[in-house]
Amino acid sequence: MISRQKIEAMLQSIEAEYRYTKGFTGQSSLPPEVMEAMRLVARQEFVPPILTTMAYENFPLPIGNGQTISQPFIVALMTDLLCPEKGDVILEVGAGSGYQAAILSRLVQQVYTLEIIPALAERATEVLQRLGYENVEVRQGDGYNGWPEQAPFDGIIVTAAASHVPPALQEQLKPGGRLIIPIGLPYRSQKLLVLEKDQNGMFSTRNVLPVSFVPLTRA
Ligand code: SAH
Repeated sequence: MISRQKIEAMLQSIEAEYRYTKGFTGQSSLPPEVMEAMRLVARQEFVPPILTTMAYENFPLPIGNGQTISQPFIVALMTDLLCPEKGDVILEVGAGSGYQAAILSRLVQQVYTLEIIPALAERATEVLQRLGYENVEVRQGDGYNGWPEQAPFDGIIVTAAASHVPPALQEQLKPGGRLIIPIGLPYRSQKLLVLEKDQNGMFSTRNVLPVSFVPLTRA
């Protein structure tokens, strides 16, 4: 059974972390639409059964294959930074458990998500299908090259840390779109960046917050 109380406590913890990090992020509170999406997605379905009781704690959890489901605050913040709109088509690199994709799917028209580890891609596909997230498509593959067949995207979110911004992702972003990506060394302090592409295809970059993500690996 989904614990409403646990979900509300998770949302309060996210709100508290918004306040602590406001000096870095410039974002003072979780937007109501993002909060509602986080209220509606059962995070417990995306974590291993043995961790169900911890599913709504505000920290990352292991999902197997050395990977993690991100901390709820980070999922909320990255979703918020993307400024999702109802008609948007979004690309995620690093499907992992499928949780971030499920949150986004409640806010936009279509989510495409790439996962490099076959077992995780399969599991994310299965859980998203079972829960009825019909506007999410998971594909196994190296997200460094993006998803050219479905490009361009209104927004792109990368949930693994890269040493640099993959050029294909910059190309596959629509003018006016945003790319959210952690950049830095594996397991060290990385920078969460927001890149905005203007109508002339020029990028501006904002460094939002020190973060720690698993590395973006290559095929
Ligand atoms: N968004 C995920 C968090 C996943 S952690 C969630 O909500 O659960 C990052 C994921 O990125 C891992 O599953 C890892 O296998 C995947 N990954 C790493 N490098 C990748 C690449 N080049 N292409 C696609 N996925 C990649």
